[in-house]
Amino acid sequence: MVRTILTYPDPELKKRSNPVTVITDKTRELVRDMAETMYAAPGVGLAAPQIGVHQRVIVIDVSTQEDKPELIVAINPEIVHAEGEAFEEEGCLSIPKFSANVRRHARVVVKALNLDGEELTYRCDDLLAIAFQHEIDHLDGILFIDHLSPLKKGIFRKRYLRAQEDAKEHHK
Ligand code: ZN
Repeated sequence: MVRTILTYPDPELKKRSNPVTVITDKTRELVRDMAETMYAAPGVGLAAPQIGVHQRVIVIDVSTQEDKPELIVAINPEIVHAEGEAFEEEGCLSIPKFSANVRRHARVVVKALNLDGEELTYRCDDLLAIAFQHEIDHLDGILFIDHLSPLKKGIFRKRYLRAQEDAKEHHK
């Protein structure tokens, strides 16, 4: 089932998510919904709090071929090593129509459980490394705009909130 994606400034996005203690049918249903929601958007990643579920679960698919999805399901993901610098343009399904360059690590090693409860290690760079950092941030209530300088963030808020107001006016 495709769920509603919460958008900034929804306070639910600022909350920290809890680790998953047992993987149950509910977890599997959550992951299925998250993947459907991400693909429908479409997006390259989604974290559970973006659909209002405060559990440490993320899904990512940075594959470029539409007919070959490569879904990564990461439960309780943790960055165990990070190095290098990246400064790439990012967007977020919870912050529609806005993007900005964000400073991140270029390479990360992530440990996470899969749906079978097995611990997997992901050594990643490029888009996948950035996606992991972006989605894990969501689990800690951090959005990519929180990485911007206060000046840039100020400009963003003004523009974004004004655009939201305009959209509301149009719906009246
Ligand atoms: Zn996001």
